[in-house]
Amino acid sequence: MKKSTPVRRTLSHKFIEFIPEQLQEGVLYVSTTYATAAHLCFCGCGREVVTPLSPTDWKLTFNGETISLSPSIGNWSFPCRSHYWIEDNCVHWCGEMPQKAIDAGRVRDRLLKATYFGDRRLPNGAQPVQLAAVPAQSEASNSRDVFENGDRDGWFARRTAWFRAQI
Ligand SMILES: [Zn+2]
Repeated sequence: MKKSTPVRRTLSHKFIEFIPEQLQEGVLYVSTTYATAAHLCFCGCGREVVTPLSPTDWKLTFNGETISLSPSIGNWSFPCRSHYWIEDNCVHWCGEMPQKAIDAGRVRDRLLKATYFGDRRLPNGAQPVQLAAVPAQSEASNSRDVFENGDRDGWFARRTAWFRAQI
């Protein structure tokens, strides 16, 4: 293996209103008030991973004891490029995805958001109608990208800034 085996296999969760300034390793913080979850990357690199909950982002399931997040979390913008999904408070590690699949997923993600939010700022002159041409069941569609702050689109940056300002 080219990377050391990830240590984090299980996690705990905390329902809170505001995401704390200092996150603890192995804890998934969930704010239903702000429809956002956050955790430190489960590879142990210490980077903060923010996963907004929305019809075009992540979906959180709470069964009364444990939580699951879907689709998977692809930290492609981080040096670790870790990729995992969370099911019943367990971290399931996935392999790296080919760059082509990551790029396709990003395009699809932007198109989805553009369609959902009526945003006209489409990537590379893409038209909303092209969304239908992006295969829904591709590998990429099963994973979602986590962007660092600088990469986020305006909508997300605004929302995160507002969310943080509440702390
Ligand atoms: Zn990491």
